[in-house]
Amino acid sequence: MMNDRVFKHFGVYPNDPLWDDWHWQYRHRITDVDTLAEITTLSEQEKQEIEICLGNYSMAITPYYASLMSVDDSSCPIRMQSVPSIKEQIVHEGEMVDPLAEEASSPVPNIVHRYPDRVLFLVSHQCAVYCRHCIRKVRVGDEGFLLSEQEINRGVEYIAATPAIRDVLISGGDPLALGDDYLESILQKLFAIDHVEIIRIGTRIPVVMPMRITESLLDMLKKYHPLWINTQFNHPNELSHQAVAACNAIVDAGIPLSNQSVLLRNINDDYETMKSLLLGLVKARVRPYYLYQCDLNEGIGHFRTKVDVGIKLIESLTGNITGFAIPKFVIDAPGGGGKIPINPDFIASRTECEMVMRNYQGNLYRYIEYLTE
Ligand SMILES: *Cc1c(COP(=O)(O)O)cnc(C)c1O
Ligand code: SF4
Repeated sequence: MMNDRVFKHFGVYPNDPLWDDWHWQYRHRITDVDTLAEITTLSEQEKQEIEICLGNYSMAITPYYASLMSVDDSSCPIRMQSVPSIKEQIVHEGEMVDPLAEEASSPVPNIVHRYPDRVLFLVSHQCAVYCRHCIRKVRVGDEGFLLSEQEINRGVEYIAATPAIRDVLISGGDPLALGDDYLESILQKLFAIDHVEIIRIGTRIPVVMPMRITESLLDMLKKYHPLWINTQFNHPNELSHQAVAACNAIVDAGIPLSNQSVLLRNINDDYETMKSLLLGLVKARVRPYYLYQCDLNEGIGHFRTKVDVGIKLIESLTGNITGFAIPKFVIDAPGGGGKIPINPDFIASRTECEMVMRNYQGNLYRYIEYLTE
């Protein structure tokens, strides 16, 4: 399933030390149409369309992620997630630049404080791969931009001055696209705050550049327990041998690893693909956490499904696979309401003292409710 053209283009093969060097992977990301055309078949029209897209949103694809891409199938799930489509240029009714109103919930720059006890801390604008379905695609891609120490400190000071915050979610951009030392300096500052009980990192690195999960990174991260990591696998083809090894290394470092998938049209919106993704994740010791309905951001309309698709998926998975392999299906409410679970309804009918429920096979069961003395 590997794309040999990638290895030939770079002259580097999976058993070369260079291939496993994340700095090499990062430096050799595919960011222009000509290189892309060498590793996957593009028509003249597609090339022109990608050029247009690059005027609005960045493209970057690690050689590793590109090696998972089909040479000539434009419906390849890896390709669809990483190669720009002209459909990104279309703005649909109801779409917004900032549908989650993150700007409005931001007390200081780079902090989103929406829930009582936890905040999102956006510490970078760079990612190893720029996902075409990213909800921050307007913000990310500013290569060479690093938050100044002063800007980081401002976020840290807000957290330190707000005792209700017990959980800090570091995101971006991708925090693991940063170097160990820079990342550690942020962790150190957060760890020093008494009321910060847990730190979480949101990262797509295990999916798009698993060689970044080095022993030295994990040795550093281990010092900041309890630390949790959330990643984002969206398709079973992403669960390569190397990606699974990276997940195992993270878990072996004592870091609980969860997954937040996005429900993506023609990528993972059918039962068999979703089931295979979820079962693959638990085999890799990754706990499926959320399945997101696509947000109403501009530029991602072609990935969006009807909400019913997600509800039906969760409904048909329930009872048929390991309970903890099934994520919570959520919509991040437009306007800044936070994540709202959208569940299939297993209650067939209810009265004051009786509830009729439907099990996963569609059979009905009665539960009588009354309070004893
Ligand atoms: C998703 C999110 C969180 C974390 O939510 P959990 O449900 O605890 O995983 C925190 N803050 C913001 C702004 C978020 O979008
Ligand atoms: S890694 Fe995350 S922040 Fe970066 S482009 Fe992908 S979805 Fe967006």
